[in-house]
Amino acid sequence: MKNIIFIAPPAAGKGTQSKLVSEEYNIPHISTGDLLREEAAKDTALGKKIKEDMEKGNLVSDEVITTLLKNRITSADAKDGYILDGYPRNITQAKIYNDLLEELKYDKGVVIFFDIDKERALKRTLSRIICSNCGSSYNLLVEELKPKKENICDRCGNELKTRSDDTEEVFIHRFDTYINSTKELIDYYDKLGLLHKIEVLDKPASEIFEEVKKVLND
Ligand code: AMP
Repeated sequence: MKNIIFIAPPAAGKGTQSKLVSEEYNIPHISTGDLLREEAAKDTALGKKIKEDMEKGNLVSDEVITTLLKNRITSADAKDGYILDGYPRNITQAKIYNDLLEELKYDKGVVIFFDIDKERALKRTLSRIICSNCGSSYNLLVEELKPKKENICDRCGNELKTRSDDTEEVFIHRFDTYINSTKELIDYYDKLGLLHKIEVLDKPASEIFEEVKKVLND
């Protein structure tokens, strides 16, 4: 069973690697943000509470997230494994998750940390463009993510624009917040011997994927 945790600062290429790993191993990509958004869209007491927390930018309670996560990772499509994205967010959640794995008799899995420095991540972010019509995302600095025709969406042919939230100031805040909040978590998994660090540098996604596969196939 491949149960995988991805930890990556913004713009490290986690989305691309998630897609590649999901296809290669036929396992789902589970984002707790998506799980919560799905639940929040429901007209239930739980849905409303989640929506409130998310709108305020608060973390959703460990109890709620653990229940949703347990349901998700025990679903039929996750029987051979899954990629967890956005969870655990802190050491408390990591400990709860460890207990959950034990309870389910799942193995401890692997944690892959995609390490990227702030300057590179910022450059990548500022060269990100999206389609205003279908939302497809491209990146002029990443070979695999360039549009085939300059400024035109491969999928729907509409014009590509920079993302309005991709400003330097917003990015730096997001990046620093992420690094501060995950430092402890990375140390924690390192001490447990579960952490594998991959240096993103300027490598193409295909090369990073080879490194990911090496970790997963070991
Ligand atoms: P994301 O899509 O990962 O940025 O998550 C969006 C929002 O969902 C966060 O701001 C939190 O409110 C909530 N969320 C996602 N993952 C978790 C988690 N592991 N624990 C608690 N709240 C979470």
